[in-house]
Amino acid sequence: MSDRLDIMGGTFDPVHNAHLEVARAVADALGLARVLFIPTGNPHFKLDQHVTPALQRARMVELAIADDPRFELDLREVERPGVTYTVDTLRELRCEYPDTELCFIVGADSAETLVHWRGAAEVARLCTVVVAARPGCDVAHVRAVHEQSGLGFRLEFVDVPQIDISSTELRKRISCGQSVTEFIPAPVIAYIDETGLYRG
Ligand code: NAP
Repeated sequence: MSDRLDIMGGTFDPVHNAHLEVARAVADALGLARVLFIPTGNPHFKLDQHVTPALQRARMVELAIADDPRFELDLREVERPGVTYTVDTLRELRCEYPDTELCFIVGADSAETLVHWRGAAEVARLCTVVVAARPGCDVAHVRAVHEQSGLGFRLEFVDVPQIDISSTELRKRISCGQSVTEFIPAPVIAYIDETGLYRG
């Protein structure tokens, strides 16, 4: 493996400052030159929920990452028909980058669940998982979940700052007319205002 490609996947509904801080903290800590932001197209784990159309979520990501040259938007999941699974994305990237280590960045909650993702054993073979560890993250527990699974995930932990924001909370705030200026980059707020997203 000559180099690595880091991937920040997310539903990003909407993208917010914690997503950006996680990616920045990982990129700074590991000296990364490039992080691909890949918004999910049609996430299978949210099929029973209303999710903002993928192209709008992708546009918000594009606006949010515009001022960091290390960050790049990748539309493959948005453009792929059908339900989105990370394993399909990793397979495609493996074909495109046969000699590159693929590193998938996740928060601690996702890190625990990914042993249950579709094709988890293949996901484990295809990528290294970079776990963004907030203060208080129970690293030993995350490791134990993975050891018990026997799937052979390679885990890399990177400390990230505590930022208590969730997309769910932000959607609620916007629907109630509350300010989100502290939590979402200004160009993304302008887009949300223009399109009327999350107004309920
Ligand atoms: P999301 O809600 O938009 O979050 C994206 C990432 O940011 C997650 O890893 C999340 O970690 C992290 N994050 C969000 N808020 C944070 C905060 N305040 N501080 C630190 N980290 C924060 O996206 P998602 O819906 O969880 O999806 C994440 C990725 O997993 C996507 O690429 C999705 O397709 C993939 N996924 C795949 C499968 C599958 O293939 N079967 C199943 C589930 C998810 P936390 O999870 O720790 O909040």
